[in-house]
Amino acid sequence: MNDILHIVVPCYNEEEVIENSIKVISEKLNQLIRSNKISKKSKIVIVDDGSKDNTINIVKKLQLKNKFLMIIKLSRNFGHQFAMYAGIMETRKNVDMIITMDADLQDDINAIDDMIDEYYKGNEIVYGVRNNRDNDSWFKRNSALVFYKVMSFLGGEIINNHADFRLMSKRSLEELSRYEESNLFIRGIIPKLGFQTSKVYYKRLDRKAGSSKYNLRKMLGLAIDGITSFSIKPIRFIIGIGIIFSFLSFIYLMYVIISYFRGADVVNGWVTIIALVCFFGSFQIFCIGVIGEYISKIYLETKRRPKYIIDEIIE
Ligand code: UDP
Ligand code: MG
Repeated sequence: MNDILHIVVPCYNEEEVIENSIKVISEKLNQLIRSNKISKKSKIVIVDDGSKDNTINIVKKLQLKNKFLMIIKLSRNFGHQFAMYAGIMETRKNVDMIITMDADLQDDINAIDDMIDEYYKGNEIVYGVRNNRDNDSWFKRNSALVFYKVMSFLGGEIINNHADFRLMSKRSLEELSRYEESNLFIRGIIPKLGFQTSKVYYKRLDRKAGSSKYNLRKMLGLAIDGITSFSIKPIRFIIGIGIIFSFLSFIYLMYVIISYFRGADVVNGWVTIIALVCFFGSFQIFCIGVIGEYISKIYLETKRRPKYIIDEIIE
C-alpha cells in the first residue's frame, strides 16, 4: 500500500504552535512511511490564512530542512473553512487521500493511523469524532450542542462532535469539487456526498499554546451560514407562524367587533394594543432579517466570487 497522503493544516496567527505541530506531524508521516502505510511522496500542506504574525516566516524557514512541507499562502484572511478548502482543492489532483486537521494539534495525531486503516478498508470518508468535550469551556460545549440540535432539527445532516478532522479519498474530493456554491458549508456538504464512510473516535486535547482563533462572532457567523446555506426551513417556519398569527388575530378581531356591538368600552384595550404592536413589530423585523439572510446568500451566489485567492505556493 503506497497511497499518497496530504495533511492539510489551515493556520491563522499560529506562531506559538506551528513549529512544534510541524515537527509532530512530520514524525507521524515518517512513522507511516516506515510502516509502509503511505507513499514517500506524502506531504504536509500548510495553508497560511493571511496570518498577521510570524507564522509564514517560521514555516518558510522550516521548509528549507523539511521535505514534507508545502506552503499555500492565501492573499488575506479567508476564514478557517475556506483556508481548508483551498488546501484541499489545490492539491487534490496529486493525492490519493487528504486529512484535514487544525494547527494546534487539538485533534489527536494518533487517530490518523486508524483513519488510514479505515481508508484501506474501502471507506471514502473517515470522520474524526471526539468522544469528550471535557476541556472545552462551558460556553463552547453548550453552544456547540445547541448548534448540532438546531442543525439536525432543520434537516442538515451533521456529524455530532465532528469538526474538520477527517480523511477524504481522491474520489470523494473530486465529488466535493463539483459543489460550486460560494457559501460552502463544508461540514454540512460532506455527509451529502454519500459513499461508504466510517468514524474514528479520539479524545480532543487542549490547545498546546496560543488562543482559539474562533471568537463568538466567527462562531455565530459559521452557525448562521451553516443553517441558511443548507436549509430553507427557517422561511417555512416563518410562513407557519405567520399563518398561526393571522388566525389568532382574526379570532381576536371577531372578539373586538362583538364587544363593540355589545357596547363595551373599547378604549379599554390600550394595553393589548401596545403589546400587540410591540410583538408584531419585533417579529416582523426578525422575519425581514431571516429573509434578508437568504437574499444575501443569493446575492453572493450570483456574483460567483472566488472562494479563496492564492498569493503564493511554495513546494
Ligand atoms: N484558522 C484559520 N483561519 C481563521 C481562523 C482559524 O485558518 O480565520 C485555523 C487555525 O489556525 C486553526 C484552525 O483554523 O488551525 C482551528 O482554529 P482554532 O483552534 O482557533 O479553533 P477552535 O479549536 O478553538 O475551534
Ligand atoms: Mg483549536
